[in-house]
Amino acid sequence: MVPMSQERRVAVVTGGARGIGVEVCRQLSDAGLDVWCTARSLDDAEAVAGQLGVRAAALDVTDRASVEALAARLARVDVVVNDAAIDYDTDQRAVDADLDRVQRALSTNLLGAWRVAQAFAPHLRASGHGRLVNVSSAAGQISGMGSGAPGYRLSKLALNGLTQLLAGELRAAGVLVNAVCPGWVATDMGGAGGRPVTDGARSILWACLLPDDGPTGGFFRDGRPLPW
Ligand code: NDP
Repeated sequence: MVPMSQERRVAVVTGGARGIGVEVCRQLSDAGLDVWCTARSLDDAEAVAGQLGVRAAALDVTDRASVEALAARLARVDVVVNDAAIDYDTDQRAVDADLDRVQRALSTNLLGAWRVAQAFAPHLRASGHGRLVNVSSAAGQISGMGSGAPGYRLSKLALNGLTQLLAGELRAAGVLVNAVCPGWVATDMGGAGGRPVTDGARSILWACLLPDDGPTGGFFRDGRPLPW
């Protein structure tokens, strides 16, 4: 039997069938990992996975049963990318925001990522070289809150805090947990004019492929630290 460290590492990507997530799946596969492209719709995941030559699974980060079912189904996971997110609410202001809408953003962007981290933590611990990458945003920097997009900004601010907590709690097991901003990327969420998904995904890959002595509990873009 091949020792675990010599087998192909396994990666799970949430929101893998659209936007930056597709390119993250592609680049992880190109790097030699065994990739699970996941999406709310199994059909969407299968369509993208078929093109990339990776595996497909249904995963809705807001649905506990869905997340736990995939974690239970997989024998090994070394890398988890929390890419899924919704609602860059630039049309809202904190002073009169629709709090039901804010709650939905928190439910996906914060609690969804948290739920995935909890479900896959046993796998990441068992890996001995686990990597958890929370795809965050400069919009969540406390040092630059500005105004507008309150649901999105606060969901990413809290995701950054969660990143630090999980990094502290998983450090002893060799799991590196980092938040990454992909930069402004031209996707459905980012709109036209941003940089290509290849660049955004590369920023995320850096944290997926860190060596064992790499950083944990940090916030990065393109491999360089960002202020919180
Ligand atoms: P897109 O809107 O293009 O894609 C969002 C992805 O999230 C889709 O795959 C979507 O799946 C998935 N998703 C949404 N809700 C759920 C859910 N409940 N369960 C599982 N998947 C879900 O966004 P981007 O690709 O642009 O963004 C990817 C990440 O990068 C996000 O975390 C975003 O906040 C971050 N980011 C993006 C920037 C940009 O400029 N684009 C800038 C900074 C950060 P479905 O197809 O089912 O809707």
